[in-house]
Amino acid sequence: MSSKKRVLVAETLEQAGVDLLRDHFDVDVRERTDEQTLAQIVGDYDALMIKTYTRVSRQVIDNAAKLKIVARAGSGLDKVDLAYAKEKGLTVRNTPQANVVSVAELVFGLMLAVSRKLAAADRYVRSGEGWDRDRFTGVELAGKTLGIVGFGNIGKLVAKRALAFDMQVVGYDPFVDAAGMAEHGVRKVETVDDVIDAADYITVHVPLLDSTRGLFSTAQFARMKRNAIFINTARGEVVDEPALIAALKAGEIAGAGLDVYEAEPPNHPELLTLDNVVLCPHIGAATREALNRMTVQAAEMIIEALKG
Ligand code: NAD
Repeated sequence: MSSKKRVLVAETLEQAGVDLLRDHFDVDVRERTDEQTLAQIVGDYDALMIKTYTRVSRQVIDNAAKLKIVARAGSGLDKVDLAYAKEKGLTVRNTPQANVVSVAELVFGLMLAVSRKLAAADRYVRSGEGWDRDRFTGVELAGKTLGIVGFGNIGKLVAKRALAFDMQVVGYDPFVDAAGMAEHGVRKVETVDDVIDAADYITVHVPLLDSTRGLFSTAQFARMKRNAIFINTARGEVVDEPALIAALKAGEIAGAGLDVYEAEPPNHPELLTLDNVVLCPHIGAATREALNRMTVQAAEMIIEALKG
């Protein structure tokens, strides 16, 4: 039997990361591994690589006698019992930096799609209904103000791209000072309301925390300009979805582009009937480049953990 350490890739992942692991270890790849099966087999492995579906529960951790590291290709760690992993001295790592460019680019995809009614225009041409271009008069990004709430990795990349579109950018983030924003060509404001007052486009890039849950609700949407376009690629729960739907229906804001929802898939049927929204199925990180980067970085973490 080989003396190589053993790694379980518990669900389908990009080949580049798997190949890298194979250079060093005995690697088993499974399409998907349910919790029960994982609990049965995890004892054979020194490292575990996961992405979207694999649940690393207390029971799995209890059976993982040799396991040194769980590497998640991606950012969310909600399927791992982190507190118990910590208690048991099990290292858990993720790759939050791998997909930030992809998310920032999707923000512009959504801003342009809502501004130029691209989804509706596409449906119209396919329908063969006619050629009434007046229906699709849109607005430009140039000259408008973008408000960024949450000026971390993604917020900064969004700012850089907004400047290339000739937008002005304001930012709100209690943990980044004015100089830190000015470096990126962004004017810092002191509250979410200040962002709302200044912005034609508002994009959210905060993590989901108790302090950010429901950050955008009835009062915030009511305060927005009527031409405001609201973009959420962060986490669904940051937005009170019924309040957003009500604001869109009442014309309190002009439109929204969403990649994330309170429940996924979204469970407010009314959202699906609105013309002034563009909806994506949580695809912010779903590019070839990001997926490759995520698996390669996760593989590198495993190599570092097992080889020292
Ligand atoms: P990050 O940690 O680099 O940045 C988050 C920023 O939010 C930090 O600068 C922090 O100071 C700031 N912040 C915290 N609380 C705040 C508050 N109350 N008000 C304003 N700012 C606050 O995170 P990131 O990598 O830029 O990711 C941002 C969001 O994007 C996260 O919610 C993440 O889950 C999400 N995300 C989504 C996808 C997708 O597929 N749609 C992919 C990756 C990340």
